[in-house]
Formats: sequence, structure tokens, C-alpha cells
Amino acid sequence: MSVVLIGKYEGLHVNDDTTAASGIPETDIIFDCEYCGKSLSIDPRGAGLMITCPDCGKRIQVPEGEGGEVGPAPADAAEQDATVAELSESLETSQAKVQELVQTLEEINTRRDYLEKVRVENFERYDRIARELSIIQSALDRIVTVLQDAGGNHNPPTAEE
Ligand SMILES: [Zn+2]
Repeated sequence: MSVVLIGKYEGLHVNDDTTAASGIPETDIIFDCEYCGKSLSIDPRGAGLMITCPDCGKRIQVPEGEGGEVGPAPADAAEQDATVAELSESLETSQAKVQELVQTLEEINTRRDYLEKVRVENFERYDRIARELSIIQSALDRIVTVLQDAGGNHNPPTAEE
């Protein structure tokens, strides 16, 4: 396994076919030498530093790691975990609020449906009353006609003695 160590930046490797995908920490920054095109990997702490290519000996700059941040120290990782925990907590709170709103909305819809039903029922009731009244009216009209036909001399029967 050919591992090339450069000065204090331990962990700089040349990714030969023999070493590729073996012995390289996942956190390492993997990049190509801009001069010789050799695949190199370096400890995240080497991000942005000028180093000497172990293969061609030219001075090259290590690119910033993904996200443009130097690899997280354990303290940062713990902080990130806390942030993630905080975020998932506020996400849960948000979801609970959404759930509440959905419930309120359902209640409003139920109430609205109820009011709509009452409105329709009342409308039907008034409509029925109107029809009944019109039937009563025409019945009264017929009674008046019958009484008139029975002869003008006779008064309609009343409760009077
Ligand atoms: Zn090189």
C-alpha cells in the first residue's frame, strides 16, 4: 500500500489503483493534482492549504471540502447533533401545529356543513309552509265560493247564536 505522507499534513495519500477505496477515511478531501492529474486525498484539516504534490512535486492548493467547511471537529459534530435535535423538535412542534390547524379546519368544515344543512332544511321547511299556506288559501277560496253559491240569503255559519 503506497501511502504518501507530506510534512505535518499526515493523511495525504496518492490514490493509486492499489490504494483506491482502501485505507482512506471517508472524511478525507479527494481531489486531483492540477498538474499531473493524480488522484489525491488529504485529511479535512488540510482544506485550502498549499501542499506539494507527492507525485509530480508541484505546489498545489487543496480545495475546500464539501460545503466549504473544514471538517467538523468532534465538538462541532456534537453541536450539529444538538442543532439537528433542535430542528427535529421544532419540526415536531410544527407538525403538531399543522395537525391542530387541520383539525380546526375539519371542525370548521363540519360546522359549515352543519350550517349549510340547517339552511337547506329551513329553506325546505319554509318552502313547505308556503305550499301549505297556499293550499289553505285555495281551500278557503273554495269554501267562500261554495258558501256564495249556496245563496246570498244565508250567512256563513258562525259560532254566534
Ligand atoms: Zn501532481
